Amino acid sequence: MIELSGISSSPGYAIGPAFIYRHDKLVISHEHIKNDEKDSEIKRLEACFSSLTREFDYYLKNAETDSEKALYTVELLMLQDVEYHKSIKKLISEKLYCAAWAVEEATNEIIKAISKIDDEYIKERIIDIRDIEYVILGSLSGKRAEHIVINDKRILVADYILTSELLSLEGLENVVGIVLDSGGKTSHVSILARSKGIASLVGLKNFSSLIEESDIVVIDGEGEKAIANPTEDVLSLYRTKIKERELRLKELGASSDLKNYTKDGKRVILDANIEWLEGVDDAVSSGCENIGLFRTEFIAIKEDLLNDRSKKDEVYLEAAKKMKGRGHIVFRTLDVGGDKKTGEMEAEDNPILGWRAVRYTLSHKEDFKAQMRAVLKASKYKNVRLMFPMISGIEELDECLGLLEEVKDELRRKRIKFDENMRVGTMIEVPSAAITADILAKKVDFFSIGTNDLIQYTIAVDRANAKTNYLYNPLHPAFLRLLKYVVDTAHDNNIEVGLCGQMGGEYKYLPLLIGLGLDEISMSSQSLPIIRRLLNSLSYSDCLTLLNEVLSMTSYIEIENRLKEFFNGRNIRY
Ligand code: PEP
Ligand code: MG
Repeated sequence: MIELSGISSSPGYAIGPAFIYRHDKLVISHEHIKNDEKDSEIKRLEACFSSLTREFDYYLKNAETDSEKALYTVELLMLQDVEYHKSIKKLISEKLYCAAWAVEEATNEIIKAISKIDDEYIKERIIDIRDIEYVILGSLSGKRAEHIVINDKRILVADYILTSELLSLEGLENVVGIVLDSGGKTSHVSILARSKGIASLVGLKNFSSLIEESDIVVIDGEGEKAIANPTEDVLSLYRTKIKERELRLKELGASSDLKNYTKDGKRVILDANIEWLEGVDDAVSSGCENIGLFRTEFIAIKEDLLNDRSKKDEVYLEAAKKMKGRGHIVFRTLDVGGDKKTGEMEAEDNPILGWRAVRYTLSHKEDFKAQMRAVLKASKYKNVRLMFPMISGIEELDECLGLLEEVKDELRRKRIKFDENMRVGTMIEVPSAAITADILAKKVDFFSIGTNDLIQYTIAVDRANAKTNYLYNPLHPAFLRLLKYVVDTAHDNNIEVGLCGQMGGEYKYLPLLIGLGLDEISMSSQSLPIIRRLLNSLSYSDCLTLLNEVLSMTSYIEIENRLKEFFNGRNIRY
């Protein structure tokens, strides 16, 4: 039996055989070949190119979307490019580079040349060229990245997993749990796991290399550990825990008649975060008042809707229609980039600080406007709000609002109905936005604080990096002060302020969030019934006193201890 501790990133227990997925690192050997090996190395290269050409030709003929077609076309052009072949062969025959090294060198030369061309479209092809280089090198070394297919109920165990890999995984419904060696609980893979109700653990160090395919794995979300090859006793203990948890959740779900007030009458709106259209049903059955955050990028990446405008219209209309008569729905414009890269996006040295969210959409204005148009069309149901992610200052916000006005004018001209009073908000998730909250508040109807990012950027700690997870702490005094400043500033400017990061769904932080006076908290549908029950049992005046005490403390350890005391005094497990 092997037992390793990690961090629970999506609650619950799970038992199942492991499906292990490890990323092979492509190590390119920089070795010289012998003079008499030149011909065989060139033959090996030619065989690799012709089999890849046949393969990509097949993909192109069977491609379903325009973006797939464009990708395969570029890759085929590259595979058949005479100059490319020539320069690789020259490096092999004249400099005696091995084939992989020659491919790497020749590709770098092409990319260097392309980078100098002043044309955005051509520059954007660099990612496609890197992609085909990866395929060629993989093929030469016999290691090709596979498409993940899971056919029976499994626990997915991996060194790490990319959001795009998880989204394209075939048989996601068969994944009963996820255990990752790396990652953090607010990474987008974790968010995805929560939205699908898949128990998951991250930061398990080297778990994936300690176990074998099909070993039985137990995920203990409460104890934050994974166990491989458990004894019969351990297995039966966890089978009981799974049953008990199911019962407890059913009971909590059934208590959705409880109202969203503290016991001394302070109202806090409780909303749900969703990532898919189907998420609306889960949200409604959790008893949410509104959808406080629709992370539209998930569906866009999965269904290739980044550029497919008509389908986007359909999805947004359907979501707004489903919420009609229940509450509103906040569509957040695409937050791609960071740990949510699509195939079209270039690799960056610091993606978390890079070309993400509005930074990306503002450089793809027509697509950005198309998304706003789709949201505006859905606003005909009068329950739609729009929100911008990763705003870092007034200039960006003004640019987004300017584009929105352009789209509204266009719809008016075409006599297409939309809600003229649609409320528009911004996320506060970059410290510069939080610090200038007084300036931004004059421009929007509401704020939604994205704590996942605001913590990462305030403390300068990557939210998905297991090595530095110990620093990622919502109780850091700097972060709590920043939260207080944003909430107070929003209220001084008479706008609503909510919070939609993972912190809102974790009950141990709720007393502080109530004390802060947030108008709304939006969280995963799974967390909502538990948060509501706790909200009903706490009093605002106690929470306010607690918050004020905590704000005068100097370290998160002191704050954490005070919170534990607060819960112990009420017989609630911290
Ligand atoms: C956040 O940053 O808290 C947030 C809600 O946005 P996301 O998790 O999608 O980055
Ligand atoms: Mg965010």
